[in-house]
Order: sequence, then structure tokens, then C-alpha cells
Amino acid sequence: MSIKEIIKVPNPFLKVVAKPVIDINQNVLVLLNDMLETMYDANGIGLAATQISTDKRLIVMDCGEVNFETEGLSEEEYNKKIKENGIKPFPIKMINPRIVNLSDDLNEREEGCLSIPGYNANVKRPSSLKVEYTDENKKNITLEADGLLATCIQHEIDHLNGILFIDHISKLKREMILKKAIKEYSTN
Ligand code: ZN
Repeated sequence: MSIKEIIKVPNPFLKVVAKPVIDINQNVLVLLNDMLETMYDANGIGLAATQISTDKRLIVMDCGEVNFETEGLSEEEYNKKIKENGIKPFPIKMINPRIVNLSDDLNEREEGCLSIPGYNANVKRPSSLKVEYTDENKKNITLEADGLLATCIQHEIDHLNGILFIDHISKLKREMILKKAIKEYSTN
């Protein structure tokens, strides 16, 4: 396994629309492991292949497995429970992910991105979804997700279509973030 370089804005490769994976071969499996390792190394919860300059429809995520009921908990209660119970690692690798259903109700959540490190913004997205993908054993999977995982899946699939989370916020905010981020990254 190896850690790959994560590209940052304004790298034009972040606008590339990735191509479907036709043959799930050894190279693809190695790439998925490298992506996961790269994501953990950067303390991220999701990474798309385009962020490591790879033109393939692959994403990895780990939003953790919460081993208790979360419904109706306040944020404070939730955080307390996490402290008590911990969150188990829950890596997910998706090949050719495709959203087949999005809920009408929306959820606003603060998002960040390994390609725009240090900058966050609130983004409104459908709160739950159904996604189809192929796993590393070439099995077709249908997954229903809500909460943080639903946000993460939409954020990562956006990357495969050349879309960043800042493309979902106002032009004014987007340009402010881009201006600051690009200046910061170019001097480091
Ligand atoms: Zn991102």
C-alpha cells in the first residue's frame, strides 16, 4: 500500500468527470487500498479517485459505525454516547457508485474537503438516499444511507463528476473560500 498525493484547488483535474471501471482487476483493488490509506493518513472520512489524479469512478469512505440508537438524541447526548461507546472503523469501497434515489427532505451539514483543507461551509443536500455500486468482490450492492454517510456519499460521487462542495454554496462564499485557499496553498 502507498500514500498518494491529494490534489488541491485550483488543480484542473478536480473538474474531470471520471470514467466507469470496466475491469475490476488487481490494479483497481490496490488503488482502492491506497485510497483508503491516503484518506486515513489525511484524517478524512471520504476520498474520490479524482482527488489523487485518477480518472476512475472509485470512492472510499469511513464515517464510522455507530453501535447505538441515534434517533431523537440531541447533539450533546450523541457526543456523550460516542465518548462512552466509541465509533468502530467502517471502511467502505465503492466501484462505479450510482445514486438511484434521493429523499425530498433536505439536511444541512458542515462539510470540508481534503482538496480544500482548512475551509468548511454548510451545504444542504437530500438527507437520505439509495446507492448502487460494485464492491471489491465484484458483487453488486444496494445501500440505503442517511445521516453523515448520506452526505459523504453525495460529496464523494460529486467529485467523480467534477463537482466540489463549494459548488453548492453561494457564488460569493465560494469565491471567498477559493481566493483565500488558493493564496494559502500557493505560499506553502
Ligand atoms: Zn471532497
